[in-house]
Order: sequence, then C-alpha cells, then structure tokens
Amino acid sequence: MQPIEEIFPLLETPKRIVITMHQKPDADAMGSSLGLFHFLIEWGHQVTVISPTNWPSFLNWMPGCDRVMDYERDTQKADGIIDEAEMVFCLDFNVLSRTKKMEPKLAASGAIKVLIDHHQQPQSEYFDFGVSDTRKSSTSEMVYDFWMSSGHSEKIDLPAAECIYAGIMTDTGSFRFPSTSASVHRLIAHLMENGLVHSPVHEAIYDNFSENRFRFIGNVLLNRMELFYEYNAALIAIPQADLVKYEIKTGDTEGLVNYPLSIEGIKLAAIIIDRGEERKCSFRSKGTFDVNAFARKYFDGGGHVNAAGGQSKEPLETVVKRFKEAMAENKNELTSYNF
Ligand code: 5GP
Ligand code: MN
Repeated sequence: MQPIEEIFPLLETPKRIVITMHQKPDADAMGSSLGLFHFLIEWGHQVTVISPTNWPSFLNWMPGCDRVMDYERDTQKADGIIDEAEMVFCLDFNVLSRTKKMEPKLAASGAIKVLIDHHQQPQSEYFDFGVSDTRKSSTSEMVYDFWMSSGHSEKIDLPAAECIYAGIMTDTGSFRFPSTSASVHRLIAHLMENGLVHSPVHEAIYDNFSENRFRFIGNVLLNRMELFYEYNAALIAIPQADLVKYEIKTGDTEGLVNYPLSIEGIKLAAIIIDRGEERKCSFRSKGTFDVNAFARKYFDGGGHVNAAGGQSKEPLETVVKRFKEAMAENKNELTSYNF
C-alpha cells in the first residue's frame, strides 16, 4: 500500500470513482464517505457512493445521502458502476468482509483501491494506496486531512463540512473520548470559521428518536442488562422478540452499549443482539482493557482498543455463555484496570 499522498497526481484528471464504507454504516462511515464525495465532485470527478447495506434513518439528513446507493437493494446497478470504476475508495473499515455481500465484487474489481481508515490491522495487501492510522479519532478526521493535503482545500464546501462534523462528533462521543486531540478541536474551529453551524447537526443525529426507540431503551436498561461487579463488567443481551415488539430499525440500537459505562466501576460493557441472521456483538471499555483483542479472540471481530465488535452464528444463549466464560478468563485484566 503506497502512501495516500501518491494518489493526488492521479486525481488531477477526472476519474470515475466509487466510494464505499462498512455495512450498516454509522455517522462516521457515512459522513466520511459523503465528505469525500462532495470534495471529489467539486474537484471534477464522477463519483458514486455505495453502501453495502441500508443505513439508519437518522443519517438521511446528510447532504448527498439521497444519492447513496444501497448495494443489497440495487445490486445489479451497483455492480455495473463498480465494473466501470477506475478507483474505489474504501472508508472506515479494515477488512473486506466488513462489506458483506459486496466483498466478492470488490475483491474482483480491477480498479485502483484506496484505503482511508482508523482501525487496527488493515488488510493492506488489497489496497494500492492508503492511510491507516489508529490514533485518529475518526475516518472523517482523516478525510479532512486528505482535503488539506490535496492542494485543493479551497474545494471544501459546507455540505462536506457538515458530513465530516457529524462523523467526528459521533466517533469521539461528542468530543469526550481520549482520541479527541487538540488537532480535532482545531479542525472543528476551522470548519466553524468557514460557516459550519454545529447545533443542527447534533439535533439531527441525537434528537429524533421514535417513541418506540425510547421505550425500547427503557426496557433494555430495566430487563436486559446484567452487571458483574466482580469483573467491573456489564452485559446487555437482546432477544429478537424485543426488536419485533418495539419495531426496532437499523441504527435504533446504536449507542446502547455505552450506557453501562456510566455506572460507577464499570470498565467493560458488552451488548449482544439477536438480529435473526446472526448475533451481533459490540464491546466498549475504559482504560487499558483491549476490546479489539477480546473481540478478535472470542467473537470473530475486531475494532479499536476501547470500541470493537464481532458476530456469531450461534444461538443467543451460547454467545452469552461465551461472553461470561471470556470475562472470567480475563478477570486479571478486568480488575487490574489502569487509565
Ligand atoms: P460497533 O460496536 O459500533 O458496531 O463497532 C465498534 C468498532 O468495531 C467499529 O470501529 C467497527 O468498525 C468495529 N467492528 C464492529 N464489528 C466488527 C466486526 O465484526 N469485525 C471487525 N473486524 N470490526 C468490527
Ligand atoms: Mn469510524
């Protein structure tokens, strides 16, 4: 994988470009992709954003989101566009399998592949150019860096700034996680000096829950959360019946895994959701407990030191049992916690 800067000369002539992200994109995956989309359009390229799957409706306000293709819904048309693409930008994921049904198509594509991502252990052999930096708060921050080092920073527009802001805001937990560096605050200041208004972005993302989603959270905290104080850990296990009862849609469970970390003493929080086709896991930690390693070892997953995910095809009860065994195996690390 050559350094990302080497791609800039190739972008001096118009290209047919596809931008893609991980399945079930969050605000960082969608925000970084659309931030890059607006920028490359301004630069004169022909750009299509393709999401491997659908996405939460709270992202629909993002400028350009109405032009994003859903690969699962529109496979044939998307395949045609990927066939024609000269470059494919892959944002906010480290391994191709994170694109689910798109994976074989991407693997077979002859286009130049570019990676922009902040997860550990990227599949770098697949990419021709790229940047992978786990110190970065978000892929959206890295797209900002891309703009600034391209020599065309004058092409940043307000829609692009809004998308990037949303991605950085959500991936930093509203600027509270340790990854929120001074340079993150500086880049936000730069966007604000150029017209970005931040409050509507917060409202669009955080203040548009359905009543069902709110009541579902009540049910989860009351009935589905188990605390293991002897391990400084908490687990939320959600059966599929709850998702049906509360009419839970893509994105409605986002952020739930963080709630137990607000309880004094809790350093590891896990959520296991029975999505029917698979059991999806998310892990969050505070301090030194490495949930990336934990997710890799026990749940076929990965991510970052303090935020990771995984999945399993086994029944919910089996995955819950595995979590409890894994927790016991890691008792030393969980109880000798350090910042
Ligand atoms: P989330 O829990 O929000 O789904 O994901 C937390 C972090 O872990 C994200 O950065 C996400 O990309 C990563 N992640 C989530 N699920 C998986 C997975 O199944 N495999 C890998 N490699 N990473 C994951
Ligand atoms: Mn991200």
